[in-house]
Amino acid sequence: MMWKGHTILGLAMGLPFISSPEQVFLLVAGALYPDLDHDVKTEIVNRGIYLSGSLVLINILLYLFKPSYFNIGFFIVSTAVLILYLIPYFANHRGITHTFLCMFVVSTILGFLTYKLSVFSPTIAGIIALSIVSSEKILGKVIPICIFVWIVIYLIFSGVEYPLIDFPGVYHYIVPVGIGYFSHILGDSLTPAGCNALYPLNYKLYRREGIILMGVWIFLLLLVIYNFVSRVY
Ligand SMILES: [Zn+2]
Repeated sequence: MMWKGHTILGLAMGLPFISSPEQVFLLVAGALYPDLDHDVKTEIVNRGIYLSGSLVLINILLYLFKPSYFNIGFFIVSTAVLILYLIPYFANHRGITHTFLCMFVVSTILGFLTYKLSVFSPTIAGIIALSIVSSEKILGKVIPICIFVWIVIYLIFSGVEYPLIDFPGVYHYIVPVGIGYFSHILGDSLTPAGCNALYPLNYKLYRREGIILMGVWIFLLLLVIYNFVSRVY
């Protein structure tokens, strides 16, 4: 699947689970991250590694020579970004980035990062998260799509009393990345090449497994709707 298909699938599968518009950017960030392992790799991943690697290096130098300037929060954030770029740098196409293991690691890191940045503005934090994982070529096209969906969601949520589900604290940011990521693995499983998502198990997911994943998603959706209905009525 190409970035367009993954963006649409990520939005379609994620929208029922969000409670505020900035989560739209995170759904798409999660849906696009796994493909950092190929065509856009050199362009964005190398730049990201130089940038975040330099920040980590500066932090280490500060720690060694100017400890009073060292900031542990800044160190953790720059190391987290560096890890986000190192994973696709060393990955083969449809390798480690297309696994559930990586889904948990990346959702946690990117979600935590956005959570930290959200003190300034949740929307800008969401846009930054998406920028981290998209190449310039894709970013220019995907941002207008996200902003359009952002506006639609904003209007819908200003009219309804309750979202279906509202994840608290850092999960508000981790879960949407995870759902977007899940949709990418599902989408690639439906293609003839399949997806080796159960690493370290050597078992490839194909169409049949993709349909099972879709069943898991429908089950979760029904669970959320059931909880919502029993809470409200
Ligand atoms: Zn892929």
